[in-house]
Amino acid sequence: MQQEQGTSAILAQKAVRLIGSFGWRRWLVALVLPFLGVVAAFGIAPNTVPNRVATTRVVQELELPLPSNGAATDAGYWREERIVRGDRAASLLRRLGTSDADVRAFLRATHSTKMLRQLIPGQSVRAYQDAHGKLLALRYQNDGDLLNVERDGDGFRVSEGAIELERRVLVASGEIDTSLFGATDAAHLPDAVAIQIADVFATDLDFHRDLRRGDRFTVVYEAYYDQGEPVRSGQILAAEFINDGKAYRALWFEYAKGHGGYYTPDGSNIRKAFLRSPLEFSRVTSRYTNRRYHPILREWRAHRGVDYGAPVGTRVRATGNGVVNFAGRRGGYGNLVVLRHQSRYTTWYGHLSRFAKGLRSGARVQQGETIGYVGMTGLANGPHLHYEFRVNGVHRNPLKVVLPPAPPIQAAQRPAFDAAAAPLVDMLNLLRGTNLARLE
Ligand SMILES: [Zn+2]
Repeated sequence: MQQEQGTSAILAQKAVRLIGSFGWRRWLVALVLPFLGVVAAFGIAPNTVPNRVATTRVVQELELPLPSNGAATDAGYWREERIVRGDRAASLLRRLGTSDADVRAFLRATHSTKMLRQLIPGQSVRAYQDAHGKLLALRYQNDGDLLNVERDGDGFRVSEGAIELERRVLVASGEIDTSLFGATDAAHLPDAVAIQIADVFATDLDFHRDLRRGDRFTVVYEAYYDQGEPVRSGQILAAEFINDGKAYRALWFEYAKGHGGYYTPDGSNIRKAFLRSPLEFSRVTSRYTNRRYHPILREWRAHRGVDYGAPVGTRVRATGNGVVNFAGRRGGYGNLVVLRHQSRYTTWYGHLSRFAKGLRSGARVQQGETIGYVGMTGLANGPHLHYEFRVNGVHRNPLKVVLPPAPPIQAAQRPAFDAAAAPLVDMLNLLRGTNLARLE
């Protein structure tokens, strides 16, 4: 017990130092709580990163040890080369000025290296070269993996392995002034966390239309560190969003190893059969003005749909699981996709610039799957998505319709869920209290 408290205090100190560097806003609260140890122990094993979190904005600066061999070491220097689309190891090395003989030796040594077959555009490799451009070492870090290639005589020695990342649980709060990204930027939250917030609440809130100035959020999330440096964010563990005075809460619960979902504190599934918005949420779409397409009832009555202004090419996603009923050209709709869901419901997506690859009548689609791209085909005076929601063939206002939920926590899971949920709910309660106190 003594020891556990000690560990949790150390963890808390680390996080406090980190948050100290974030700076404070009058309405921004970032706290670390004594629950930290409890939360860190909840549900997720250290260093397991859920697949759904793929993006990372923070690029780590590696401390690079000098190569251990070669007399030329003293005269060497590190150079960084950015990976561009279509790059392979050979093209990267040529840009670094590596000789043909060394390129061949490098490719021989690394022919079975998986990381080099999946070079990710935008990331960098670092090369250590002597004054004549002779390649002495190369490092490539990609998410949690590190590739290390060092000169060994006329050839190269290769090692590849996972970086042991330290998992921390951080919390942040913010208040919406103009946009979600404005608030998450002020709270120093990575984009990946901002998009997860929109994703977690995607079946309750349309982040393109529902946000109000003064809305608030609190988020408890994982972050991964290597030697004190942030490498990437992880999963959101708990979140609260207060929209127009109404509070929505979501808690992550891993009900089986590697499988989890978000639930309300009383165990209801936060997922519903339909997403609130058919438009992907991103920095670009969040900035795009909807003023011409303001969601007033008059507009819906006039043409029985809701319009989303967005740049041409913005991804349009299926709001629910279903089957493609129609995908093609139809009059004023232009390029249109109609999806059928559970027999009672259909959703309509008009004015598309193009369809997703392989989309045809009869194809099954999953909620959130891209079905096409925003355009202005048919009767459209600007790029936008026309979205309709029909129940038994009758138009309904998708902004108003009450949508059926996904299954709740099962009885057998209940004790585990309650035990996991309690500390998260405590944390959200405390953060909300702190938030309000600071607002006064
Ligand atoms: Zn329309």
